[in-house]
Amino acid sequence: MSATATRVLVLNSGSSSVKYQLLDMGAEPDSGSAAGTRLAVGLVERIGEESSRLVHTPLAAGGEKRETEGAIADHDAALKAVAAELAADGLGLDSPELAAIGHRVVHGGLKFTAPTVIDDAVLAEIERLVPVAPLHNPANITGIRTARALRPDLPQVAVFDTAFHTTMPEHAARYAIDVATADAHRIRRYGFHGTSHAYVSRKTAELLGKDPSEVNVIVLHLGNGASASAVAGGRCVDTSMGLTPLEGLVMGTRSGDIDPAVTFHLKRVAGMSTDEIDALLNKKSGLVGLCGDNDMREIRRRIDEGDERARLAFDIYIHRLKKYIGAYSAVLGKVDAVAFTAGVGENAAPVREAAVAGLEEMGLAVDATLNAARSGEPRLISPDYARVAVAVVPTDEELEIAQQTYALVNA
Ligand code: ADP
Repeated sequence: MSATATRVLVLNSGSSSVKYQLLDMGAEPDSGSAAGTRLAVGLVERIGEESSRLVHTPLAAGGEKRETEGAIADHDAALKAVAAELAADGLGLDSPELAAIGHRVVHGGLKFTAPTVIDDAVLAEIERLVPVAPLHNPANITGIRTARALRPDLPQVAVFDTAFHTTMPEHAARYAIDVATADAHRIRRYGFHGTSHAYVSRKTAELLGKDPSEVNVIVLHLGNGASASAVAGGRCVDTSMGLTPLEGLVMGTRSGDIDPAVTFHLKRVAGMSTDEIDALLNKKSGLVGLCGDNDMREIRRRIDEGDERARLAFDIYIHRLKKYIGAYSAVLGKVDAVAFTAGVGENAAPVREAAVAGLEEMGLAVDATLNAARSGEPRLISPDYARVAVAVVPTDEELEIAQQTYALVNA
């Protein structure tokens, strides 16, 4: 790697999309969260369709957003199109300033507990995990293969969604099912959104003026997908997603926790196939299943108009959230902060207010004025007297991936 190489390209490859960000990490490989200037961000969507779309914004040049429509056949073509856009801004992938490519990889199983430089053996191991992450890992693998073909000489790093959760103790990670069956099929709780939970728990400690090792934090990542985690002294000790991202909180389209016997019932009594049940619980449940909308803004608007279904969906969402706050308070013993993040957590003041309402005895409260104020910065929204800090901490998974990637290739 060249001494001047300080840029990291972050790639998040989905089955029909690629999200990317090019960041300049500055001279200090591990100078903490301050490092990381975004040079360009973008997205290719509907890969494989006639109506593919590339949206590219060159932030460094203060440039305008550029949109291109037209068929992009596969991930290889998508990445080449991204490379061409970057090159047009003088940020091409052949630049000696590019230090590495950091890939988001959803499932790292138990083996990958930290970001890892990708070689053939690592790629083979990520492939071995496809049976436990059939929806996500194949797309991530395609992204890695494509990027390696484009720049075979460049370090490529995998940053795993599951890695932060590998510190969970066995009693939190294991399901209470037959051990031999569980082990034969690698069934256990892995957890997801780990990059976000790591970043937000660290940022929350920073907000409190403490080292992560000194604080216990409950992180509530509430996006379209949603998960909670209990982080003790910087290490994850429990999280709400499990073998797959279906377990836990009520989400935009996923049910979260459910009696597993519901699935037998749907099969035996309702005659549904496994795939139909999978689609029901992952795509037609959660907020959308309950009230037809998964966007919290729309749900709040309907509630304001007196819509009962939207109200009930909101109440079910909040009830589940409260249960996890209570459960993780018990798991942690002492809680220093509850941090809200992601689309809903960062923006929906009514969700934050309702989630901690009535928990004063547990030391939790929000200040109405602080909660209502909008900001893109990490901030406290609890009143001074509250024993537990309540924080809003915008997540930044791309920055976290870039930081971990850059630190690793400079290690
Ligand atoms: P993803 O899981 O897709 O990354 P995000 O973290 O971007 O999701 O969150 C998307 C969700 O955030 C939307 O579905 C919507 O419910 C919610 N959201 C976004 N902006 C607002 C807002 N201003 N008020 C309330 N909810 C919002």
